[in-house]
Amino acid sequence: MAIVGIDIGGMSIKLGIVSIEGKILEKINFKVDYKKLSSDQVIEMIKDHILMLLDKSKFSKNDLEGIGIGCPGAINAPKGVVDYANNLGWVKVPLVAKLKEYFNVPIYISNDANVAALGEAIYGSGKQYNNSVMITLGTGVGGGIVIDHRLFEGNEGKGAELGHMVIEVDGKECSCGRRGCFEAYSSATALIESTKKAMIENQTSQMWQEVAGNLDKVDGKLAFEYYKKGDLVAKEVIDNYIHYLGEGLLNICNIFRPEAILLGGGISAQKDCLLNLLEPYLEERFYGYRQSPKVALKIATLGNDAGIIGAAALVLQNAIVK
Ligand SMILES: [Zn+2]
Repeated sequence: MAIVGIDIGGMSIKLGIVSIEGKILEKINFKVDYKKLSSDQVIEMIKDHILMLLDKSKFSKNDLEGIGIGCPGAINAPKGVVDYANNLGWVKVPLVAKLKEYFNVPIYISNDANVAALGEAIYGSGKQYNNSVMITLGTGVGGGIVIDHRLFEGNEGKGAELGHMVIEVDGKECSCGRRGCFEAYSSATALIESTKKAMIENQTSQMWQEVAGNLDKVDGKLAFEYYKKGDLVAKEVIDNYIHYLGEGLLNICNIFRPEAILLGGGISAQKDCLLNLLEPYLEERFYGYRQSPKVALKIATLGNDAGIIGAAALVLQNAIVK
């Protein structure tokens, strides 16, 4: 039995054969220049690579049980259509129907953040829980909600946009066009921006010396590193970051009261430092905390494989129900 998980990214596409235990048995990837290729050409490449992957793992096309796909952008999951993916330049691409022309098996698709959440919930840091919410702190803030081991995606699969809940009315501009979204304060992009701003205002900070005044060298790790070294400017940046991140997570605790919140994306590489700052913040402010079950905070464990494993989990999730 072969289940293929496909992780569509802005620069490359990764594919893997995933076992029912959530292990990647074989994987391949290829680079894609979306500016030069039509969506049909990319789909043709995906098809060829599925066949290559099966061949490489000594499976035949007949062994294929299902295909799961994670894709960035606004995805109509029930219809299998990529409605709009800015990074790929795709509008209304019927990806599932096109692949079904080649493969007569169940094919499922969802938004990449949802897919990562499902993979992490079933096979990663959330596997001991029935209900979890994953937050990906990367270029943006992605969200995925898993209830009783299944994704909650909302109508047309367009819900669970936790990064775009407003946490500061009329606050900072967000990429979605609204103001004050969780993403505008809690993404790695937002942390880098506030680090740079603080450095410009405080050129005595050790962070300024670290990059020799070159702000292009500022990344999402710098403020955390210097926070640990006791730099006061870095401390202010991180305290402010944790304040907004914490408020967003508290909203999630109070709305869903999941058993766990799973943190992924570049910022989650801070592991214990991040957890040690967030846990007391949540515990002090958790509405009804004393009478409520604690929400565990976990660092995601599947890393770069979450997309492939989660995409395969879409197939298993649907197979289990039917
Ligand atoms: Zn937004």
